[in-house]
Amino acid sequence: MRRDSQGIPGKVVATVASASPLYWKANIAQKLLIADTMHELSIALSIIDIASAEAERHGGGAVSAIHIKLGPLSGVVKEALMSAFQLAREQSPLSDSRLVVEQVPIVIYCAQCDAERHVASIQSLVCPTCSLPSGNVISGRELEVVALELQE
Ligand SMILES: [Zn+2]
Repeated sequence: MRRDSQGIPGKVVATVASASPLYWKANIAQKLLIADTMHELSIALSIIDIASAEAERHGGGAVSAIHIKLGPLSGVVKEALMSAFQLAREQSPLSDSRLVVEQVPIVIYCAQCDAERHVASIQSLVCPTCSLPSGNVISGRELEVVALELQE
């Protein structure tokens, strides 16, 4: 089931801001050596840390799933993050939880069209309609924990 802080069925919102030291990090030091997804692994550990703290705030129930939003501009590859999560959760209090990744599209605001446009390529942030480049990214940079599923 899902809970949130406002008591409205919906989402627990937290943003992956910075990695904090995790007490079980030492336990997986050996696995860290063989992991070739160091960046994703530290992000996976941060996600687990955030989810643990949120679950604690909501009564400390076991976390069955962690939902995150991931944008192509976050620099994180979904597949790498998924396998890093498998590794990171092992010796954590969240060993039974799943990671559910929602991939969000790149959307820019085009001043010339006065409209939000979906961009197909991460390489060139230009309006697909009028070809004007835009630095105004509305979505696509997400790397956020958006919801937790907690067990009773
Ligand atoms: Zn345009």
